Amino acid sequence: MAAAGGGSSCFVLGASGETGRVLLRELLARRAFARVTLIGRRRLSLGEAEAAVEQAVVDFERLGEHAAAFQGHDVGFCCLGTTRAKAGADGFVRVDRDYVAQAAELARAGGCKHFILQSSRGANAQSRFLYLRVKGEVENLVQAVGFDHCTILRPAVLLCRRQESRPMEWIAQQFLGAVARLFPTAYSVPVEMVARAMVACALQPGEGKVKVLENRAIHELGKAVPQQGT
Ligand code: NDP
Repeated sequence: MAAAGGGSSCFVLGASGETGRVLLRELLARRAFARVTLIGRRRLSLGEAEAAVEQAVVDFERLGEHAAAFQGHDVGFCCLGTTRAKAGADGFVRVDRDYVAQAAELARAGGCKHFILQSSRGANAQSRFLYLRVKGEVENLVQAVGFDHCTILRPAVLLCRRQESRPMEWIAQQFLGAVARLFPTAYSVPVEMVARAMVACALQPGEGKVKVLENRAIHELGKAVPQQGT
């Protein structure tokens, strides 16, 4: 896969999370961007990778005061998110919708051309379910920002070895991990596929302003990207 242009720059929101961590690994291994900036609420210990990235620590409740962190990036990746169990309903809305939408606005103002959002299967602003409604709302808000390209990925259940304990998700993963052997693209997707699909979209945004990738398309795109070392 071709690397992005020599002077290109990207930022990642949510790089400490399960998808974001793998995304960062992919970005660095493929040398996809000349400059990679992690924007998060805390500084990450990245070992050897530390020298290869810049980190901007921001207060998401005062994101407007951190416009500089969003300046001068070509592409923005967003893997930010929390859960209702962790943050409560209001906290979930704040993180998954408000923080993301504000970040997208700042990114656009800073010159970002392509915003790549990890949303969710079933996202729908009219849904009765808070999770799906908020995901639908944030998709609409990010699209309305007016990027040259806006890519929205809608993965099904993420398959990963989550560091944080989420018992219900763990049970779903065990079940769906087994089902995935029969129906690999139906109900789940490994985070590696999501990360590779995100990188592929960044490097080849294609035609059109808005692209929505459902779970099957994420699998197809993720599979088409050669694994590192092959
Ligand atoms: P994680 O939950 O593993 O990571 C979330 C990221 O968001 C972390 O970097 C975390 O930072 C950051 N974050 C959380 N709360 C805050 C906050 N209050 N302020 C600032 N940063 C915060 O993400 P996943 O990889 O599991 O998921 C990524 C996205 O995909 C989410 O939007 C999720 O809803 C969506 N999704 C998840 C599915 C699943 O099966 N779990 C299925 C489909 C979509 P920190 O490390 O500092 O906490």
